[in-house]
Amino acid sequence: MLLFFWEISFGFVPESYQITEVKHYVTSENIQILLETTGKIDYQSFFLHHPERLVLDLKNTKVGFPFQDLTINEGGVNKIRFGNYDKDIFRVVFDLIYPVESKIFWVENESEKKYQLVIEFSSKDLKNEENRELVAAPRELRPKRVVVIDPGHGGEDPGAIGPGGTQEKDITLDFARVLKRVFDENGNYKTLLTRNSDYFLPLKERIKIAEIHQADLFISIHADSNHNRYTRGASIYCLSLQGASDEATRCLAEKENAADLIGGIPLSENNDLNLTLLDLALTENINQSLRYGTLVLREIRKVQLLKFEKPKQAGFRVLKTAKVPSILIELGFISNPQEELRLKQKEFQLSVAQAIVSASTQFFAFPREEPLLPQSVKATEKQ
Ligand SMILES: [Zn+2]
Repeated sequence: MLLFFWEISFGFVPESYQITEVKHYVTSENIQILLETTGKIDYQSFFLHHPERLVLDLKNTKVGFPFQDLTINEGGVNKIRFGNYDKDIFRVVFDLIYPVESKIFWVENESEKKYQLVIEFSSKDLKNEENRELVAAPRELRPKRVVVIDPGHGGEDPGAIGPGGTQEKDITLDFARVLKRVFDENGNYKTLLTRNSDYFLPLKERIKIAEIHQADLFISIHADSNHNRYTRGASIYCLSLQGASDEATRCLAEKENAADLIGGIPLSENNDLNLTLLDLALTENINQSLRYGTLVLREIRKVQLLKFEKPKQAGFRVLKTAKVPSILIELGFISNPQEELRLKQKEFQLSVAQAIVSASTQFFAFPREEPLLPQSVKATEKQ
């Protein structure tokens, strides 16, 4: 009986289809990718994780135009990649920035022989069960604190480059993975990385990941650089209400913010920023961030020299949220040959990670404590 069916399927020559065009539309609600095809193609789709991807396998399909990767960088979709997976399977891979809900459906006009396969992503509902469980409960009732770790830079944006050729984007990812492991081993935390491989992620997408998951903490990881190769030490930045308050801070803020231009995102949020500055929630959040930053510095100083004794404040876009206490850590100076080597050492990474986790435990142990610092910290130290 089985053999009989095999014979039938061998005798069948499948029709071959073409993808003639790829279009995409982004709205505030979702993102739609449209594949225009010459017929209703059989397809299979499935998610892959770490990093998040949606894979679409189209049977007996060819592409009727020179295809290349498409960078989207919006609505949770980073890139779309195309390729021949097998001799009769054409594969489309959607690289996702965070878990999103997807819908796939055909829009067809039989009389005009027009077919569109629509792939719709929406970031409003989280597909992943684990994430749903994370956001379902109010923060204080959740069994674990949610920490989002953000490895700075990535992809076409290498960040600062050390005299030995070390790229900041690699240090930040390396360290973020170690930090995640130490948080996870503690047992009281659920941690997520904003990126877990080498790709560019716009700043506003990074903080959005923390907001979607209603994170209890957002930690952006960076390594500093200076024209003076002897400059060294770690520092912590929190968002400021006044924006950059001194020359050194301003230079640094611009350097980190410039990353957004590489992704093609214009820096035009001045009006937004002015409005946000009036927001009391933001003030409260900055105070919490300063309290957390102070605790982290107190722990880090046991294992690494500090560039600044207190958290500094600047207008970093990656920290611009009223919802999640957020700090940016500069682990040390990649421009200093000794620190460049140190930043790569596993023992160093582990000791700083342990310091951060220990400070986090202290932070959550006294959630109603008054801020340790006045609202505005005047940065007086020069680089
Ligand atoms: Zn950086």
